[in-house]
Amino acid sequence: MEFSAERIVAEIDLGAVLHNMESMKDNLSKGAMLCAVLKTNAYGHGAVGIARVLEKVPYVWGYACAAFEEAAELREAGMKKPILLLGYVFPSCYEDLARLDIRPAVFREDMLDQLSAAAEKTGRSIRVHAACDTGMGRIGIRPDETGLAFLDRVLHTRGLILEGMFTHFARADEAGGEANTRGQIEAFRGLAESCRKQLGYRIPILHCLNSAGIISYADAEMDMSRAGITLYGLWPSGEVPKDIIDIRPVMSLRSRLVFVKEVEAGFPVSYGSTFVTDKRTRIATVPVGYGDGYPRSLSGRGYVLVHGKKAPILGRVCMDQFMIDVTDIPEAAEGDRVTLIGRDGNEVITMEALGDMSGRFNYELACCISQKRVPRTFINAD
Ligand SMILES: *Cc1c(COP(=O)(O)O)cnc(C)c1O
Repeated sequence: MEFSAERIVAEIDLGAVLHNMESMKDNLSKGAMLCAVLKTNAYGHGAVGIARVLEKVPYVWGYACAAFEEAAELREAGMKKPILLLGYVFPSCYEDLARLDIRPAVFREDMLDQLSAAAEKTGRSIRVHAACDTGMGRIGIRPDETGLAFLDRVLHTRGLILEGMFTHFARADEAGGEANTRGQIEAFRGLAESCRKQLGYRIPILHCLNSAGIISYADAEMDMSRAGITLYGLWPSGEVPKDIIDIRPVMSLRSRLVFVKEVEAGFPVSYGSTFVTDKRTRIATVPVGYGDGYPRSLSGRGYVLVHGKKAPILGRVCMDQFMIDVTDIPEAAEGDRVTLIGRDGNEVITMEALGDMSGRFNYELACCISQKRVPRTFINAD
C-alpha cells in the first residue's frame, strides 16, 4: 500500500528544477549539454518525476544513475534519453543493460569481454564511458600508459563503442581545492589527448564537471557536465561561491499538527524526559520521526515552522513522532501545516540549515528522507 500524503509529504518543485538547470546552462558555453545526475532516486527527490520534465529539455543529454535498477526504472517509466551508470555494474545485468540501451562506466579489464559477450548475445552494441581516476581514488583507469592501453582495448573490443570518458573531482567544492582540481583536469585532458594522438580516436563525449565544477571551473567544460546537487537547489558545500549560479531549493517537507495541549510547569516530554517544562507550555505533536528520515540528532535542538514562525523541538525525536513548543504561536491548532524543510511565510529552513542543526551532510539528509514512507508530490510542473 502506498503511503498517503496526509501525514508527511515531500513537495517537489519542478519549476525550480528547470530554473536550476537553466541557471547552470547559462554559466556554461552556448551549446552546453548537461547530464542530470538522478542516482538515489534523484537525491531523494523522485527520479521518475524529475526525469519526466527533463526529458523535454533539449540541452539535457540524459541521466546518470549509480545502480542498474535505477536506470531500468527510468526506462520502464518511458524515458528515452541516454542513461549512464557512474559506478561498477555487475555482469548479471549486462544483457539487460544492452537491451535497455544503458551506458556503463568501464574501468576493469574483465568488464570488456563480459560486455562484449552481452552485446553479441543481444545483437546490440553497447556504448560505454571510460571512468578515469585523476585523484578521487575510487574507480577508474589511471591517466597514464596503462589507461591508454585500456582505451585501446575498449576500441578493439567487438560490440563496444567508446562514446565517452569522464573523471570526478575530489575537491572542487573547497576554497583551497584549486590546485588539486586543476591537476585533475590536466591529467584527464592528457589522457584524452593521448587517445586522440596515439590511438587516432577523438572520444566524442569528454566530461569532468560536477556541480561544484559547473560553478567554479566552467572553463573546463569539455563536451558535457554532470549536474547533481545543484539541480536540486542545494549547494555542494558552504565554500563554493553563491553568486555565480542562482538556484532554488526543490524539496519542501511538510506535515500537520496532530495533537495540541497546554501543560503545567514540570511536565516531562519524550523518551528520557530530557526536556521538562519550566512554565505553562503549549505543546504540539508532529507525526514524523527518524523512521521517515528526519534526524534524531535534532532532538532538543532543531525547530520547524508553524504559521510562518519557528517552533522549537522539545525533547527527543521518536521514530514516528516529535513534540514542539507552540506557546508563542497561539493560533496553532490540530490539523495546521508544519514545515520541516522549506519556506513558510518569511521563514525558511534549508536543507543546509537542517544539515548544520543535525550534524548531517545536506546530500545525505535529502537521500535519507524515506523513499517508502514519504510520498513525493510534484508541483509547478508548467
Ligand atoms: C554523484 C556524482 C556526480 C554529481 O555530483 P554533485 O556534487 O551532486 O554534482 C557527478 N559525477 C559523479 C561521477 C558522481 O558520482
